[in-house]
Amino acid sequence: MTDKAKDKYTVLKDVFGYDTFREGQEALVDGVLSGRDVLGIMPTGAGKSLCFQIPALLLPGITVVVSPLISLMKDQVAALNQLGVHAAYINSSLTDRQYVRAMENARKGQYKIIYVAPERLLTEPFQLLAQSVDVSIVAVDEAHCISQWGQDFRPSYLKIVTFIETLPKRPVIAAYTATATKQVKEDIACILGLWDPVLMVTGYDRKNLYFSVKKPKDKKAALLGYLGKYSGKSGIIYCNTRKAVEEVEHLLLQEGYPATRYHAGLLDAERRENQEDFIYDRKPLMVATNAFGMGIDKSNVRFVIHYNMPKDIESYYQEAGRAGRDGEPAECLLFYTGQDVKINEFLIAMQEENSELGIEERELIKERDLERLKRMTFYCFTNECLRDYILRYFGEYGGNYCGNCENCLTEFEDMDVTEAACQIIRLVQTSRERYGIHAILDAAHGSDTAKVRQFRLDRNPGYGSLKGYTLVRLRQIMNDLLVKGYLSLTSNEYPVLKMTEAGSRLAAAWAMQGAGQGSQKEGGVPRVVLKLPKAQERAAPKNTEKNKAALEVKHPALFEQLRKCRYGLAQKEHVPPYIIFSDKTLKEMSVYLPSTEEEMLNINGVGAVKFEKYGEAFLGIVKAYMGKL
Ligand code: ADP
Ligand code: MG
Repeated sequence: MTDKAKDKYTVLKDVFGYDTFREGQEALVDGVLSGRDVLGIMPTGAGKSLCFQIPALLLPGITVVVSPLISLMKDQVAALNQLGVHAAYINSSLTDRQYVRAMENARKGQYKIIYVAPERLLTEPFQLLAQSVDVSIVAVDEAHCISQWGQDFRPSYLKIVTFIETLPKRPVIAAYTATATKQVKEDIACILGLWDPVLMVTGYDRKNLYFSVKKPKDKKAALLGYLGKYSGKSGIIYCNTRKAVEEVEHLLLQEGYPATRYHAGLLDAERRENQEDFIYDRKPLMVATNAFGMGIDKSNVRFVIHYNMPKDIESYYQEAGRAGRDGEPAECLLFYTGQDVKINEFLIAMQEENSELGIEERELIKERDLERLKRMTFYCFTNECLRDYILRYFGEYGGNYCGNCENCLTEFEDMDVTEAACQIIRLVQTSRERYGIHAILDAAHGSDTAKVRQFRLDRNPGYGSLKGYTLVRLRQIMNDLLVKGYLSLTSNEYPVLKMTEAGSRLAAAWAMQGAGQGSQKEGGVPRVVLKLPKAQERAAPKNTEKNKAALEVKHPALFEQLRKCRYGLAQKEHVPPYIIFSDKTLKEMSVYLPSTEEEMLNINGVGAVKFEKYGEAFLGIVKAYMGKL
C-alpha cells in the first residue's frame, strides 16, 4: 500500500467513520489525488461529497466547492464541522460581517474546504482570495446545472469556466452529478474543459426503493389510506403547487398527523423552522413543493409520495431518491391524474423568462421540457418494470424484472390488441399525421364530435372501425403504442400524433396480411400485447427477499434508548439527530452491542472524532442495557 492509499483509508475511517468506500468512490478519490480531472455520475445518496472531501483533506491547498443552493452548502458545512473539519460557505445568506470574517479566515488558511455560490466566483473579494491562496481542487457539485440539456440549467454555472481561467495555476477539476443523460454528460465535460477525466458512472439503481404508480380517483383518501398503515415513520409528500401543499398539510393536521409544510411562498423564518421540525423528527411528515429537499441528507425518510406527477424523470428520481438514503427499504409512490400533465404544461409555458437567454434558446429549452414531460407521463402508464423504465431513461439497462416495484409484483393478463393498434396507426397515417390523441380516438370510436366533423375524420375509411371498444380501452391502447414507440407525439402546445418507423412497419405488415388475418408465424404481423392488471389483491412489497435482508433491530428497547440519547445530544448541540449518528449506525449498535472502544469504532459511521465526542455516552447505554439482560 502506498502512503497516499493509506492516507485515504485513514481519513475515511478516522474522520468519516466508514470502513469501506462505496461503489465508485475510491476511483474518483484516486483520480483527484493523482492530479486527474474527474467526472462522477452517481445517484442521489451514493456519497458524492466524500469523493471531493477526502482529497480536499489530503492535498496541500484548499478546495473550492461550487454548489447551486444555500441549503445544500449549509448542510454539508455543518456536517463537516461536526466531524472536526474546518470548512465554510460563501453565499448571500451571510451578513456583511460574517462575510468579511469568513474571507479573512480563508485568507489565513483556516479552511481546507470552501463552498461558494457560482454568482460569487467572479466578485472582486473572492477573486482576490483565489489569487492569494493555493487552490488545489475546484469541485463542481450538481454539475448538470451547467448544461442547457439538463433539467436545472443555471447560466451562472458558466462563470466557473472563467473563474478557473483566472487562477494562477490550473487546479484539478472535479465534477459530480446524480442525473446526466448522454447529452448532459458531454456538456459537462466540454464546457468545463475537463482534461481526459476519470469517468465514473455507477448504477442509478437504488435497490432498496420500491416504486409504485397509483391513479386514485380521490387522492386525499388514497393518501390517508396509505398513512393509516405507516404512522410514525418519516416521509415527504411532494405537491406541485403551493396551494396543494396548503391543502394537503391542512388535511393531515386535521387528521392528527404530525405534519409540516415547505414552499417558496413562506417567510424565511417559517421555512427554516419547518425544515428543522422535519429534520429533527419533531414533525416527521413534510408536505412540500420541489423547493424542498436539495441537499437535505435525512437518512431515515421511509417514503416519498408524489401527490402530483413532477415535470420530468430527472426531478422524480431525485426527489423520490430522498427516501431510504440509509439503504434500508423505503417506498416511492406517485399519484397520477391527467390534470397533473396540464399543470406541468402550464408551468413550462409560464417559465420565468431567463434574461440571460435569447429567444431561440428559450424556445429550445421549452421544447426539451415538453419532451421530458412526455417521458414522465409514459412512466405512469407503462405496465413494464418501473425501475427498468427509469434506468433506461438514463441510458442504463436494468433487466425487465426487478421484483421490487408495483408492476413486477402485479399479475397481468395479456390482451392481444394488434388489430385495434393497427387501425389506430392507419388512422393517423391516412389523416396525414395532423391530429392529436383525442381527435384520432374519437374517430376510431365513431364519436360524432365537433372536432371529428371539423377535421372531416368522419369521412375517413377508418371512422368507427373500433366502435366495439370503450374509449377507456382505446386510450390504454394508445398509451401503449406511445410507450412502445409505434407512434410518437410532438412536443408543442397542441401535440400531434406522428408515425414512427416501427409503426409504419407494423401497419404495412398488417395491410399485407389482409386486415386482421395476420398469423403469429415468423414473418407475420408482430403482435401488440396489452398488459392489463388482473383484478385481484396485489402482493404487498413487504415480503420480498430484498426487504428481508435488511438489518433487523434485535433489541428495540435499546434502539429507542440510543435514539433518545441522540436526540438529547442533538438538541444540546443544535444539529439534526442524523448528523450525530444515522439510524443505521444506531441500528448496528443495537444489533452488535459494542462494549469497548474498539468494538464501537467498528460500527459503521463511528469515526475517531465522533467517538471522542459521543462514544462514551452510547457505550454507557449499551453496557447498562446488557447488564440488565
Ligand atoms: P450524494 O451527494 O451522492 O447524494 P452524499 O454525499 O450526500 O450523497 O452522501 C449520502 C450519505 O451517504 C451521507 O449520509 C454520507 O455520510 C453517506 N456515505 C457516503 N460515503 C459513505 C461510505 N463510504 N460508507 C458509508 N456511508 C457513506
Ligand atoms: Mg450531493
